[in-house]
Amino acid sequence: MTNARRIGVYPGTFDPVTLGHMDIIRRGAKLVDKLVIGVTTNASKSPLFSVDERLAMVQRECAPLGASIEVVPFDSLLMHFAQAQGASIILRGLRAVADFEYEYQMAGMNQYLDASIETVFLMADVSLQPIASRLVKEIAGLGGDISRFVSPAVREQVLARLPSRAT
Ligand code: ADP
Repeated sequence: MTNARRIGVYPGTFDPVTLGHMDIIRRGAKLVDKLVIGVTTNASKSPLFSVDERLAMVQRECAPLGASIEVVPFDSLLMHFAQAQGASIILRGLRAVADFEYEYQMAGMNQYLDASIETVFLMADVSLQPIASRLVKEIAGLGGDISRFVSPAVREQVLARLPSRAT
């Protein structure tokens, strides 16, 4: 097994992908041979962007980071997706106490489903920790400046989708 490639899955909605996500992706990519970014269809969250738009957005943002990153859609159970990808690691980002309870419970349940896959938590740079996709959309929708939270290209996409109140 010493030559086995270590594959990690980083799942999320990425609606839209933020500088916080990108920081976790950069850190995570260093820990594995291949990082699969799983973009959930997550219709229950009524995303602002379709899964195809989110896939393209994440792909574009990750393009400069190199070939060891793949962006793949999924709508199945996370552990089934991770197994299908041959992953031994699930990466999650931890922002604050608020994230902890949900993440703790999910990691625990996922251990029951497949104990051979480890959940690994990473922290983004402190300056990026408060960033959340939900707040980016809320701020943009109310005409606030989101340029410190997302890339210029993502900002344009968010503003184009929420044109009425954008400044
Ligand atoms: P989900 O819909 O599963 O919450 P998200 O797209 O919101 O997916 O986030 C995917 C992962 O990235 C989650 O583990 C989340 O905690 C993490 N994450 C999001 N924003 C940040 C951030 N600013 N710093 C650290 N982790 C983050």
